[in-house]
Amino acid sequence: MVYCKKCGAKNTDDSVFCGDCGEPLAGKPAESSPKKDAQKNPKHKSPAAAVLLNLLLAGAGFIYLGEWGKAVLFFFLVLVSAAIFKIPGWIFMMALTMIACYNDAKKINSDLQQ
Ligand SMILES: [Zn+2]
Repeated sequence: MVYCKKCGAKNTDDSVFCGDCGEPLAGKPAESSPKKDAQKNPKHKSPAAAVLLNLLLAGAGFIYLGEWGKAVLFFFLVLVSAAIFKIPGWIFMMALTMIACYNDAKKINSDLQQ
């Protein structure tokens, strides 16, 4: 005997659908989407967190993403840009850093889903 998960009705073992309510018996009712699985994955990165970390320290978002080379590179790019172009240079390079961080986080997440 197979019991329907939805209504509890008894069905024969070879039933595919519940004779009472029509619920599929063999299939997985709560099949998780790939997106849901990715969020459970510990390697999944939050693009928002990666971007915001750069506000604490330029390039810190890349450390969060595990990209140490880029973290160091962008840290110095922000420093140099700020030294030469002052505040506008700092804002410009910070924006570039955050965009690059966001794109990398998205890329890491899409790679995980494949
Ligand atoms: Zn049923």
